[in-house]
Amino acid sequence: RAKDSGRNTFQYYSRDLTARAVERVQLESSLHRALECGEFLLHYQPQLDLERGTLRGLEALVRWQPPESGLISPVTFIPLAEESGLIIPMGTWVLSEACRQMKAWFDRGLVTAEALISVNLSPKQFDQPDLVALIDRILSATGLAPSQLELEITESTVMRSVAQAGSVLHQLRELGVKVAIDDFGTGYSSLIHLKRLPLTTLKIDKTFVSDIPHDANDTAITRAVIAMAKSLSLEALAEGVETQAQCDFLIREGCPHGQGYLFSRPQNAREIEPFLRDRSRT
Ligand code: C2E
Ligand code: MG
Ligand code: MG
Ligand code: MG
Repeated sequence: RAKDSGRNTFQYYSRDLTARAVERVQLESSLHRALECGEFLLHYQPQLDLERGTLRGLEALVRWQPPESGLISPVTFIPLAEESGLIIPMGTWVLSEACRQMKAWFDRGLVTAEALISVNLSPKQFDQPDLVALIDRILSATGLAPSQLELEITESTVMRSVAQAGSVLHQLRELGVKVAIDDFGTGYSSLIHLKRLPLTTLKIDKTFVSDIPHDANDTAITRAVIAMAKSLSLEALAEGVETQAQCDFLIREGCPHGQGYLFSRPQNAREIEPFLRDRSRT
């Protein structure tokens, strides 16, 4: 299109590109400042045992709160943090803060020893050479039991290099940490590899969950993932459960766990505590 309509359009596009590049550099430098000034915070979303309605765990979800502006979604800044490498120090902060908070909740009796804290790891974080040592150090520093930490990685993180991922995953499992595949069904995992990797959990992507039980394809996919998890001895957890009809379908199909707006939106630590008081009773 730029070519057809001549020089002005070209200038328009190039100005636009420059503006975007400047915006990126500005955003990147404000991300650095954000980390230094403590502008990141965590929201927590409960994960439930669907049948009993009790707490299975919580997913930690990072947010950015710049001064004098609204809360910024990770969808906006994680990709840039990933590209710029800032994801490494930021991710370390997320891991430490999530483990610290979970231990504090445990000590106050707000969560049981079985409850998990799930933390997302981006591909660059997963690739950092000292990941296992880092996790070990954070667990020791916070005093959180390794069995209470679950790391969420995506299919693509694992499938880029199955051999390398397998070795890291084995070391993590040796520490006692759990590993979930996030957004399952949106990537291209091979079942052979999934079977060989020491995983604990499959999180069914919310794009499938959102159209059950009326969409025949999504219903079939969800059913298949639940069955597959069962046969691989993995726990299935459905993301993005928004309606009672979805929840009923998942229970009927034998999906043990779910998380979504039906139960609770992600909220900050203080806001989520009444929910913990309510649901942690066993
Ligand atoms: P994710 O790990 O798949 O997280 C689930 C996302 O779905 C969250 O979006 C959550 O708020 C949203 N969600 C939860 N329940 C529902 C529901 O019922 N309906 C709908 N439509 N959405 C629901 P959020 O918090 O904006 O996070 C987006 C993504 O950003 C995450 O997807 C994850 O990939 C990434 N992310 C978030 N926090 C971190 C982090 O600390 N580190 C890294 N590396 N990535 C993170
Ligand atoms: Mg996740
Ligand atoms: Mg997900
Ligand atoms: Mg998703």
